Amino acid sequence: MSRYDHDLDGLADLLPGEPAFRARQLHDGLYRQLAQPDELSTLPVPLRRHLAALPELAPALELADARRADDGATDKWLFRLHDGAVVETVLMRYPRRATVCVSSQAGCAMACSFCATGQGGFGRHLQRGEIVEQVVRAARAAREEGRRLDHVVFMGMGEPLANYDRVLAAVRSIVVDIGIGARNLTLSTVGVVPGIERLAGEPLQVSLAVSLHAANDELRSRLVPLNRRYPLDTVRAACARYVERTHRRLSFEWALIAGVNDRTDDADELAAIARPLHAHVNLIPLNPTPGYLAVGSSAAAVRRFRDELDRRGVNVTVRATRGRDIAAACGQLAGSAGAGR
Ligand code: SAH
Repeated sequence: MSRYDHDLDGLADLLPGEPAFRARQLHDGLYRQLAQPDELSTLPVPLRRHLAALPELAPALELADARRADDGATDKWLFRLHDGAVVETVLMRYPRRATVCVSSQAGCAMACSFCATGQGGFGRHLQRGEIVEQVVRAARAAREEGRRLDHVVFMGMGEPLANYDRVLAAVRSIVVDIGIGARNLTLSTVGVVPGIERLAGEPLQVSLAVSLHAANDELRSRLVPLNRRYPLDTVRAACARYVERTHRRLSFEWALIAGVNDRTDDADELAAIARPLHAHVNLIPLNPTPGYLAVGSSAAAVRRFRDELDRRGVNVTVRATRGRDIAAACGQLAGSAGAGR
């Protein structure tokens, strides 16, 4: 248990004998003011000291390494957890917004061939507090620069829908406690069909991104092993039910790999899946990782693929790669920097 694992009742339990408004002050301080217990000037000094020493209110994340790229627009933080596991968090600044990319697991069991986290294997699930605190750290850093953190994407290490309950608890806390709009949160999944089905039943307006990367089973099973368990037909059916039930935004992620999934046939197959679902397609050239030899598509091939989708009536955006030099780009998070793993 750490600082951001407690709801209001949980915080009240840490304050026996104190009036009820103290728990609300503590809650407001942690989640709205993004403050540490010893910074809470609304509380009497002895109480502040007492709270600052409570193990239940200890921080979950210890900064182990920080790197900056893209002329200061991107920060990557490596955090060590209480048991030595490490996760990465990336803050991306844009002219009119700031986005944090958070991890939901230490490592990942999905073993996607082109992904550095997948190449490293599974460590463990993150607790709710370990996820929420990543957002708080990013929101604090943004605030110190006079910015507001307004988007959260679950595209760091791990498969969020394989850690469903803790991730959903974190999502609710980020929305309700911290106050970031649900529509500004994106859960990204490799295609965990039961998780997509459950998410469709949640009263939460979060966006869903499905990492497709291939639109035929033969290729997709090679890139994304989970496709053998949940083949494209089942992913597509789950997406259809999701859109029908929720009317929420659905997008497909597609990392363009030179000569592998950037051909005209691939655009045909992708359009056939994306169009009926009105899904938005995000293209990003594959980032290099140590365990996968193919390279990302050239800028010209990316444009051509985009135009082919566009001609087929698909909504498509090319995403700029961030933090490539510091291994902070999509799929590069391996927890290696300074962690000695
Ligand atoms: N497990 C979740 C979320 C984490 S990965 C998922 O798979 O969606 C976030 C995104 O980065 C996914 O779309 C993933 O396929 C993509 N990605 C992984 N490795 C990549 C790489 N080397 N280059 C570009 N994108 C990559």
